[in-house]
Amino acid sequence: MEIIHQTIAALSQSVKAETLIAHGDHRLRAVIVSHANNHQCSARLEIWSPESLTWNFMAEIPFAVMETPHQLIYTDDGEEPHHFQADIERLYEKALFLLPPVETSKDAVTLEGAYVRKGGGHCPKCKKGNLSSEDHPEVVGTEVFHQVMCQDCGAHWEDKYVLAGISSPMGFDAKAPVSSDQ
Ligand SMILES: [Zn+2]
Repeated sequence: MEIIHQTIAALSQSVKAETLIAHGDHRLRAVIVSHANNHQCSARLEIWSPESLTWNFMAEIPFAVMETPHQLIYTDDGEEPHHFQADIERLYEKALFLLPPVETSKDAVTLEGAYVRKGGGHCPKCKKGNLSSEDHPEVVGTEVFHQVMCQDCGAHWEDKYVLAGISSPMGFDAKAPVSSDQ
């Protein structure tokens, strides 16, 4: 579990712990409240929606089975993180059940992968943008290869393109459905 940030604050009748957790590209927020009134204690997990820019409800633990002690506001060490840890882990387990698994290995990103992700335009070896390329790409079947050379470090390679569609069709409608006799 990758905790990004945690705030624990004593309010007038409660102690509230907010924990931000990263899970791959997802951002989760565990909000745990230990209240002076037992039935107002709560443990909720929310997920950030980048589309709507809101936290959305994901899971909760009913107050009767929370492991965070109730009435922490009356204790001397009520703001210690360890009080909340067990419920945070249980909420995170629920998230793992609901979310697709995360690709863990970050070093699996290759020089080629990083180059493609950025849309080319820089040398995969020295990262500079001083590139020159052959005038005419070479078509081989459904692939096109274009020789590129880095003017700074001398590395060279071929950009590889793959047939992805038809543009500027003339004399026919490329988006027309295929008829049954073809
Ligand atoms: Zn280079």
